[in-house]
Amino acid sequence: MQDNRFKKALLDSQTFAVTWELIPGRGARESAQDRALSQAGQAAAGDVVHALTLTDNPGGTPALSASHLGSELANKGVEPLVHFTCKDKNRNALESELYALDRCGIRNLLVMSGDYPVSGFQGRPAPVFDFDPIHVLQLISEMNRGLSIVGPKGIVRHQQTDFFAGAVVSPFKATQAEQLTQYSKLKKKIAAGAKFVVTQLGYDARKFHELLLFMKQHDLHVPLVGNIYILPFGAAKMMNRNELPGSVVTDQLLAELDRERNEPDKGLEARILRAARLYAVLKGMGYSGVHLGGHNIPYAQVEEIIRRGEALAPEWQTLVPFFDYPIPGGFYFYDRDPDTGLNLGTPVSSAGRSPASPIDLSYRLSRFFHALLFEPGSRLYKPMRRLARQLDGSRWESVFHKVERVIKAGLFDCRDCGDCALADVAYLCPMSQCPKNQRNGPCGGSFQGWCEVHPGVKQCIYVRAYTRLKRYAQESTLENRIVPPCNWDLFQRSSWINYYLGKDHWSQKQD
Ligand code: SF4
Repeated sequence: MQDNRFKKALLDSQTFAVTWELIPGRGARESAQDRALSQAGQAAAGDVVHALTLTDNPGGTPALSASHLGSELANKGVEPLVHFTCKDKNRNALESELYALDRCGIRNLLVMSGDYPVSGFQGRPAPVFDFDPIHVLQLISEMNRGLSIVGPKGIVRHQQTDFFAGAVVSPFKATQAEQLTQYSKLKKKIAAGAKFVVTQLGYDARKFHELLLFMKQHDLHVPLVGNIYILPFGAAKMMNRNELPGSVVTDQLLAELDRERNEPDKGLEARILRAARLYAVLKGMGYSGVHLGGHNIPYAQVEEIIRRGEALAPEWQTLVPFFDYPIPGGFYFYDRDPDTGLNLGTPVSSAGRSPASPIDLSYRLSRFFHALLFEPGSRLYKPMRRLARQLDGSRWESVFHKVERVIKAGLFDCRDCGDCALADVAYLCPMSQCPKNQRNGPCGGSFQGWCEVHPGVKQCIYVRAYTRLKRYAQESTLENRIVPPCNWDLFQRSSWINYYLGKDHWSQKQD
């Protein structure tokens, strides 16, 4: 198999890696697919792009499979970077897809939760989210080591794969809780095997710099790729209204784009110049590459942005003021450096301050009863474990389970998965209260503290969890351990019995 051009570029400190995003589009033989294949041909001939990235059902709507289009691109001699999301496939479908990708020679994957599914044939599809990105990265890491499968004849070790998988993070969050839980999850993604990191969309140089500094200071030594979207007014308006989750365009930037679109060229030169300047800033700052995207961008524009970005890179510090679009009142991890407009290396004092909100009664009670009944070493732990052993398999088990159901459904909107993650997320159930069932930290779609799926109605559970834990100076527990995916073998069984008998994911913690 040929060298992995993208991996080589990203790991080579002398090369600034460039990827270009193509959108497979809905359909199999439509103009969108013809366009993507023709763009790929141009990129192969031009030889300045190190990988073509392919989105996976973007916006939560169906499209041609990114994996399939990726295999067609690979045949054209272009390195594909396939977006690999958790929204439409359970763990078995993800594993099957990885086998298919391996067979096709596709090695580069960008792993993410994915946009919440919004439309499909005959109505809205069921969201899957059986795994979160951390579980996918763990699976890929295992496959790269040679996945061991227990079969009827013992353990079988599969051939090693050669995936090069990365993850996504947003440094552009407005609140302290959102931002710090994003960074906590980033640590887990890298621990799970992410080999590179791509940012979400934003236009704030200080935030790009914050992420770079944060990763250096926390020993997260993987290449960082900055996202550059060639931004027209229409897309900016949607991002400004939070209609494209995870992408941040402030009112100030939107007003500038509004002025630019009245230019004779409808703002084209301004768009290209903005992208070239951001390219230069990211390269100068120390990013390892950029991810170029935009709707219907011709290949000639990609080449122009790279050429002009390279020419501007030596003077990148003078360009920082062109990306001064803070979210009003938004959180920054570091103090501002007045000389550069970027960051000093010292965390802002508010990073250690407690949030003002009071601790709610249900959280206090949950902590109290957890400490009383479920902490190994507490007075009631051993008696409860004895009781669980007696109940397990007896005719009283279903009665006990019903009592548990009534209590937990009323208090936590319990879905009876039997593999309880309440204590992992400050007694907020990720299976019932997070539409994407994220067990290890927030997805990238939260907006000013609100959940991507219920903006203005429900806060992201990780914002609530962070706020609760911070009151006890325990917010770092959110990054302490990787919470495994739910084991559906335990579905509709008593999670309390499962816990005491060491059948659920907590067994790793018990004696
Ligand atoms: S609760 Fe948070 S993690 Fe879950 S879908 Fe909403 S924004 Fe994403």
